[in-house]
Amino acid sequence: MLPMASSHRGPLSAACTQCQEGRKLVLFVTGLCRFRCFYCPVSERRNQKDVIYANERRVLDDADVLEEARAIGASGTGITGGDPLGPIDRTVHYVELLKREFGPGHNIHLYTHEPNAAKLERLARAGLDEFRLHIPHYLWGPLSGDGGAYRAVLEAAPSWGIRRGVEIPVLPEKEAELRRLLHALEGIGVDFVNLNELEFSETNETKLHERGYTQDPRNGWGVRGSRAVAERLVRDGSFRLPLHYCSSRFKDGVQLRQRLKRRAERTAPSFAELTPDGTVVLGIVEIPLDRDLARAARRVAGLAGAAKGDYRVDLGRRRVELDARRLRRVAARLRLPAFEVEEYPTADALEVERTPLNPAAFPEAFGGGE
Ligand code: SF4
Repeated sequence: MLPMASSHRGPLSAACTQCQEGRKLVLFVTGLCRFRCFYCPVSERRNQKDVIYANERRVLDDADVLEEARAIGASGTGITGGDPLGPIDRTVHYVELLKREFGPGHNIHLYTHEPNAAKLERLARAGLDEFRLHIPHYLWGPLSGDGGAYRAVLEAAPSWGIRRGVEIPVLPEKEAELRRLLHALEGIGVDFVNLNELEFSETNETKLHERGYTQDPRNGWGVRGSRAVAERLVRDGSFRLPLHYCSSRFKDGVQLRQRLKRRAERTAPSFAELTPDGTVVLGIVEIPLDRDLARAARRVAGLAGAAKGDYRVDLGRRRVELDARRLRRVAARLRLPAFEVEEYPTADALEVERTPLNPAAFPEAFGGGE
């Protein structure tokens, strides 16, 4: 058993271990994908858009990718999308870049739905360590026969010197087909199979409901029945191939949280409070556009008794950041709006909560004015 109801039988892929520890950079190379699976969880902001993200950071050039990898102390990268085999030159470029920058030990794996031997062989030559083939559910049964291109790619991969696995969501009503698929994959000798809990997301919710799937309230965003089928398969002693079930709660509660903690430890200022959830708590003072930012920052620091290193100025968001407790003590005497904020330590710094510290002095800034 793994935390959050995840489990495995046989060894875990090195890429999965790094992911659990938050040491994998998630490199989203494009939102474009020609497969349009009904359960696709890719967010509205990225879905079918040709955009690149390194974790939550929008990528405009290679430096963004490398900085983000360093910000979490990445020891590997998972390349995802969309389908990374679509913009194949771009994907090859990133594999070469990451290997050149971080060395051959930087483990790179990739997810794809496209069974394209020429592209995967090219990626293997560029240094890709592992690919995970996403086999469409209507081929789960047929793969035990001739299986077409999906089977051909899995059979050819060992000659390219690359690990090959299969990663699919568990559709609860397809247990029989899934069992046939697993037996076929065992015959092929794939290195592992990852079973993902089928889960609701903002983008697939309507389609999942239309097909009669319901949410399991005891299980985060998981679809009712998906976990039970996956657990039966992992426990089933008749399968000898390495099987790993990754739950929806594990992705948020372990993988993401670990990555956030690693990023917070490396990038948060020393005065920030780090929470067990991987978020950071700060005191902030917002500086209006008509005020001189540097001067205002010095005044805030002076009033709060904050020496150099006890505060910092965020130019982009026009705010002074300091220890929340220190700011709380002087907020009532400030002539600028002050808050305690909890936010993600990510490039987009998504805010979780904000508490006004001097609402009486600035009722209009906090929605209490006339
Ligand atoms: S292959 Fe992946 S990215 Fe493409 S539609 Fe299916 S789930 Fe979405």
